[in-house]
Amino acid sequence: MKYWNSTLKSMTEYIPGEQPEDIDEYIKLNTNENAFPPSADILNAITKECSGNLRLYPNPDAETLTKICADTWGLSQSNYFAANGSDELFSLIFRGFIDRDQLAAFSYPSYSLYYTMSEANGIAYDKIDLKDDFSIDFAKFLKKKYALVIFCNPNNPTGTGVNREGLIKFLEKYKGVAVVDEAYVDFSGNSMIDLVNSFDNLIVTRSFSKSYSLAGLRVGIAAAHRDIIEGFKKIKDSYNVDRLAQAGAIAALKDKKSFNYRVSMINNNKDYLTESLDELGFKTVPSEANFIFTNHSSIDAKTLYEKLKENKILVRHFDGPRLSNYLRITVGSMIEIKAFLKVLRSIIDEI
Ligand code: PMP
Repeated sequence: MKYWNSTLKSMTEYIPGEQPEDIDEYIKLNTNENAFPPSADILNAITKECSGNLRLYPNPDAETLTKICADTWGLSQSNYFAANGSDELFSLIFRGFIDRDQLAAFSYPSYSLYYTMSEANGIAYDKIDLKDDFSIDFAKFLKKKYALVIFCNPNNPTGTGVNREGLIKFLEKYKGVAVVDEAYVDFSGNSMIDLVNSFDNLIVTRSFSKSYSLAGLRVGIAAAHRDIIEGFKKIKDSYNVDRLAQAGAIAALKDKKSFNYRVSMINNNKDYLTESLDELGFKTVPSEANFIFTNHSSIDAKTLYEKLKENKILVRHFDGPRLSNYLRITVGSMIEIKAFLKVLRSIIDEI
């Protein structure tokens, strides 16, 4: 810590979910990756790019990719910016769209990287509690002059979606930059991306890590007014999305069949998982994502987390108010879900 600056010394670090080395020995339901692999078309596109062309830099603005984003999600190409995962987008947002003497606000509980990035950039923030039903308390986000707010749609870790009418009413009054993080939105289809046409202070972020099964490739996309997009381009690393990542993301957007398959399989599996957990005495928050947020009527969530881990099953448990009673469980394949339920039943019987 000798050479760390004061911000680095004082900030709370972001703790990602475990990625064990002996990964094949685990059932991994802890980091919301997709249960199904990318299709052969997507893998072939990446492999094809794995050639002598790797001596060449990639297209600096990922132009083919942003064009296909516009064809797929609407808006125009100039409304899109590609990054090395949506986490890079947040990093750029904190660097480029808020000053150090300004204030940010995020819901709690939500994706804790927002808090970490705010601290890492020396920006003070308020945590605004979700309401009892885990919906966003928009009125509280208008109580102070916030320069940056981030809403997560659907929210990690609760799985609850953003209310469209509530967001529109909020945006009609709000003057700062508003980000809607839609890393998981494809599992519900309730996107706010079209609102970029109406609000020049709105940034919607998307990820290829969840519905597109490409967490290992690192691609995230921002949709916003072209003025914000120009800002992103000004501060990004020159070649922030590598050749393999661009090729994979382009192929993933073209392959609508495998996309629809993955999303519908996961949504079906989610229903099965939720119903099975109901029978075991769990209460699950209705989820719009590829994970569920659930708690047991009598057994402590941390105990369940630890016992599952002893049995080589990883789920996510967070310490903190309103979190520590819950488990966040990624929706796996049917084989993974059945194996998980079998172990869970035996743990419950034992306790
Ligand atoms: N937003 C949310 C809400 C997430 O949960 C995650 C991943 N854990 C991300 C963004 C990051 O996505 P990416 O892999 O695109 O950086």
